Amino acid sequence: APVDRSATTYVAGHRGLVGSAIWRRLEREGFSDLRGRTSQELDLRDRDRVFEYFRATRPRYVVLAAARVGGILANASRPVEFLSDNLRIQTNVMDAALEAGVERLLFLGSSCIYPRLAPQPIREDALLTGPLEPTNEAYALAKIAGIGQVQATRRQYGLRWISAMPTNIYGPGDNFSPTGSHVLPALIRRYWEARESGASEVVNWGTGSPRREFLHADDLADACLHLLDSYDDDAHINVGTGVDATIKEIAALVSDVVGFEGTTRWDETRPDGTPRKVMDVSRLTALGWTPSIPLREGLESTVRWFEDNPSRAL
Ligand code: GDP
Repeated sequence: APVDRSATTYVAGHRGLVGSAIWRRLEREGFSDLRGRTSQELDLRDRDRVFEYFRATRPRYVVLAAARVGGILANASRPVEFLSDNLRIQTNVMDAALEAGVERLLFLGSSCIYPRLAPQPIREDALLTGPLEPTNEAYALAKIAGIGQVQATRRQYGLRWISAMPTNIYGPGDNFSPTGSHVLPALIRRYWEARESGASEVVNWGTGSPRREFLHADDLADACLHLLDSYDDDAHINVGTGVDATIKEIAALVSDVVGFEGTTRWDETRPDGTPRKVMDVSRLTALGWTPSIPLREGLESTVRWFEDNPSRAL
């Protein structure tokens, strides 16, 4: 049954790439009592403050889109933060949501929860069938624990909580930091700066041969609303397009969208990460949801956002 649009709904992480897209989507849908707190206002790693917030707010629904996130370099160089911060954020929010009797909670994970060499496209039941990719193992372990907490809460308390595992997400409001970002914002910034400075060559990380799948944050937000309204199962569900491309192809597309006319070189001393990561999205498709933003179009609007918001992007 569709969730009640007038119920108090807390979006944890509502300033992030994913959380802000979900907030906009729920607002457009007519949700009339949306709640959010910035990390300055409420540090979700602080258990006592999180419990206080839930006792005061009493949300009926929660979307858990708060997390410490980052690209391959950030994950590989600061694993303790990716493990400890994410475990604390999600455990505090879920424990407090349980105490408050939250009816529906949507926990967002990541496609990196799956084994490094999982059969492709990756089905939901590939979880815990093999070793993880070392460059994002810490983040993946935290997210796997989150799926476990959702399942345990369903079984022990009968609450209709669910987990969704999005593929690589991009869009306006992303993190474009050269050391912290994921590949798409990194490429947008690099090609854009090269065009601006008149450079003739761009150097990207790795071999360019890994394959990745990309979903626009607005599509993910739409899928999240669809899941809140219609999904109620112990198992987590993949959210993606089911379509992937090589990083080389992605780089060529970004270079074209940005209007860079030079050449591209690959620094093979940098890590590639998982060789391929594409989701099997048949469960989601069976629920009647498909993405609607083509990659090129989504990239064009993301580049426009990047150009229009230098203070946030650079
Ligand atoms: P992953 O999907 O967890 O591996 O994370 P990323 O989005 O950070 O990286 C995806 C792929 O893009 C990896 O193979 C990277 O080596 C490659 N890549 C190429 N250039 C860059 C870059 O400038 N930044 C990042 N983050 N990745 C890059």
